[in-house]
Amino acid sequence: MHAEESTHRNAIAALFKKPILDLIYRAATVHRTHHDPRQVQVCTLLSIKTGGCSENCGYCSQSAHFDTGLARQDLLSVAAVQQAAERAAASGSTRFCMGAAWRQVRDGAEFDRVLEMVRCVAATGMEVCCTLGMLNAAQAQKLKAAGLTAYNHNLDTGENYYSEVVTTHTYQDRIATIEHVGRAGISVCCGGILGLGESDDDRIDLLCALAQLPTPPESIPVNALVPIAGTPLGDREPTSVWELVRMVACARILFPEAMVRLSAGRDALPATAQALCFLAGANSIFSGDKLLTTPHPGADADQALFDLLDLEARPSHEQSSELVDQREETIVDGS
Ligand code: SF4
Repeated sequence: MHAEESTHRNAIAALFKKPILDLIYRAATVHRTHHDPRQVQVCTLLSIKTGGCSENCGYCSQSAHFDTGLARQDLLSVAAVQQAAERAAASGSTRFCMGAAWRQVRDGAEFDRVLEMVRCVAATGMEVCCTLGMLNAAQAQKLKAAGLTAYNHNLDTGENYYSEVVTTHTYQDRIATIEHVGRAGISVCCGGILGLGESDDDRIDLLCALAQLPTPPESIPVNALVPIAGTPLGDREPTSVWELVRMVACARILFPEAMVRLSAGRDALPATAQALCFLAGANSIFSGDKLLTTPHPGADADQALFDLLDLEARPSHEQSSELVDQREETIVDGS
């Protein structure tokens, strides 16, 4: 490690090790400087192709390497996705994410269908995100041309621990895809998972890796492992709320402009724990009663939580610019 990298890592490690209440206070301050703390982005995640994945990510219900009893589903039709997107938009989502359990994108009819899905979702005015596995530069450019806002590709954990979690691809493979995404002008959505058996050092490594991405992440999902029976990590102990809050706060401080998304594992969190995460800078959630294949709080529970905490759904980029346009017109009109 170069001297500069080492200093950088030391600074991130010092931040990570701060007393939790100091960390929450600092993260809340950063959050309020850069965001409206009442606004939370509401995203919908739809599995457009489920199960049968060739990769062996040790936490995943969709890997063909493990017997998790998950029913496989081929790639959905464009019409089915369009209906789901319209429902999501009507229920207040401003970002629609589509996930396919693929090792990598392959050119051909299925990718062409995904491009059509992206066009359809973009037409609803929602931001469009995909997570389709690894992709190359040309595929990233095609997704951008179809209207993709963001591409999710998580680093999961620190590089040193990654091979304990998955062996069918490497950390560098992940980073190469993220580079293609950034170069194509697509926002990078990249985060990690807590509770894989990693150490604090691995978590600090993850934060360093995120900070060193060539394109800084626009959104950072912070996941807590949902142990799935049949996977190698199916018997892990749950991640504590404090570990989750610590990671959320560090992400908020290191990436002040990013959306920090409370993702997998939110179903197990009481309202008090979620409130702490929002205080520490989380400002994005997935809505719906399923997160790909795992249980998730439903829209009614989320609305009750928003009412309780006086939160509101954040408009999409598209809607935000419309609001700005309207405000500018109002100023010009003098009305
Ligand atoms: S690549 Fe994605 S879908 Fe496939 S096993 Fe890993 S996490 Fe699951």
